[in-house]
Amino acid sequence: MNAMQYEFRTGNGYDVHAFEEGAAVILCGISIPHKYKLKGHSDADVAMHALTDAIYGALADGDIGTHFPPSDPQWKGAPSDIFLSHANKLIIEREGKLIHADITIICEYPKISPHCLAMKKQLSDILSLDMDRISVKATTSEKLGFTGREEGIASIATATIALPF
Ligand code: MG
Repeated sequence: MNAMQYEFRTGNGYDVHAFEEGAAVILCGISIPHKYKLKGHSDADVAMHALTDAIYGALADGDIGTHFPPSDPQWKGAPSDIFLSHANKLIIEREGKLIHADITIICEYPKISPHCLAMKKQLSDILSLDMDRISVKATTSEKLGFTGREEGIASIATATIALPF
């Protein structure tokens, strides 16, 4: 960074997608074989949606639905890196920088931890951000609630950004 003065901001994001009949879920851009897929207008990448909303939150600039209305058919089946790249582009346009991203994926199955490294690499490529600034982790909800009943997957994310004053 140059001699400009920066302020640091954090944003949070939360998303849920339900399971439906299928063979794989897409999480952070990685396809993971499963007995269901995630239902949604786009590719339903719940983790990438949470992170995208966290960045929009840090920018105080709406959410995915604001920028990519689900009523617009052009986003049907869209790969979610379109949304994440757009959010990152808004930071760059303001001469800022994404500093850190932390994602938690909440589900009983599929098991996430074997795929966390691949997810971090994928996000690193999309965001042009070092892997040591990206955290992807998972937890179950101890079989409680909709994630515990294996009805879908939830994800929360936090993004930290630097923006010039
Ligand atoms: Mg979503």
